[in-house]
Amino acid sequence: MQISMGILRGISVSFLAFLVCVCTIYEPCVQAWSKEGHAMTCKIAQELLEPEAKHAVQMLLPDYVNGDLSALCVWPDQVRHWYKYRWTSPLHFIDTPDQACNFKYQRDCHDPHGVKDMCVAGAIQNFTNQLSHYRHGTSDRRHNMTEALLFLSHFMGDIHQPMHVGFTSDEGGNTIDLRWFRHKSNLHHVWDREIILTAAADYYGKDINLLQQDIEANFTHGIWSSDLASWRDCADLSSCVNKYAAESINLACKWGYKDVESGDTLSDDYFNSRLPIVMRRIAQGGVRLAMILNRILGVEHEDSIAAT
Ligand SMILES: [Zn+2]
Repeated sequence: MQISMGILRGISVSFLAFLVCVCTIYEPCVQAWSKEGHAMTCKIAQELLEPEAKHAVQMLLPDYVNGDLSALCVWPDQVRHWYKYRWTSPLHFIDTPDQACNFKYQRDCHDPHGVKDMCVAGAIQNFTNQLSHYRHGTSDRRHNMTEALLFLSHFMGDIHQPMHVGFTSDEGGNTIDLRWFRHKSNLHHVWDREIILTAAADYYGKDINLLQQDIEANFTHGIWSSDLASWRDCADLSSCVNKYAAESINLACKWGYKDVESGDTLSDDYFNSRLPIVMRRIAQGGVRLAMILNRILGVEHEDSIAAT
């Protein structure tokens, strides 16, 4: 697979180390695409919105973001440890049985206490359903609808991050400590953030917008353009969401966990072979988020996919 990229890499270790430091202080135990990954997913989605859905999203966003959904796509990660939102913490991921490499909703979609539907697949269905009432709702529901939009947008990113549908015993790679080039990291974080930041630093002059533009070029007129229709294809929301989760655990087994053990050092080989996967998952998350928002917030379609 050939991906359009900028200049050859020239890694800036001190820059990465600085970012990791900042990340450790301000974002402990983040279990999500990094803010960069979520922002790209949401920017891609917002650019694909049809006029009606675009208008609804603008109405739902608080004024201070000036209509930019991506500015709040990481919000669910910022509040998940607040008392009020603690219940949302299990909604960011799915733990599947070790080595099973598949996803079964009934078996896997629950929180650590066994409460059903408390996983990222269940959350996407729940918030899609909530948001589908916006078209017929009244203005006093606006606050809840805003939260539903932000949760849905965030969780569509999370479900596409392969290691968010990982093995139970290693917490989606969080307990697999290793080195990313020369600094300490873990396998989950490599997929959340390290690959994205290394790509940005090495190929795009640290400009995430350029990385995002390359991702978009790949599906508008590049190597994924013929895949776009199949990415969007969805007759029934719950089976589509289950498919997204199944794709992730599949990729986690095939590319995430493969040939990786605690204590390893991951560098060029791992980075170069996994970056195309990360870019494609960000693209798919954005395209599919737009598909859902266009259907539930746009003009009424006969093929509405709102979950029941
Ligand atoms: Zn998350």
